[in-house]
Amino acid sequence: MTTLHTLPIPRQITPAHEHAWVADSRHPTSEGVVVYVRCAGCGTHRVDLQEHPLTPPAAISRETSG
Ligand SMILES: [Zn+2]
Repeated sequence: MTTLHTLPIPRQITPAHEHAWVADSRHPTSEGVVVYVRCAGCGTHRVDLQEHPLTPPAAISRETSG
């Protein structure tokens, strides 16, 4: 006989998902190209800095929702 246990499902306040970053705008600076990105899925904003056209941009700001 199988005993069924009902496990509580943990509620996530902010569901984790892989952000789909979309570049809102790009601003060339002396340190590289500052790219303002926004997640198309949840609307989170982030600022990236691409120091060189051939290197991937690195986040220079925390992700902020809204
Ligand atoms: Zn997202």
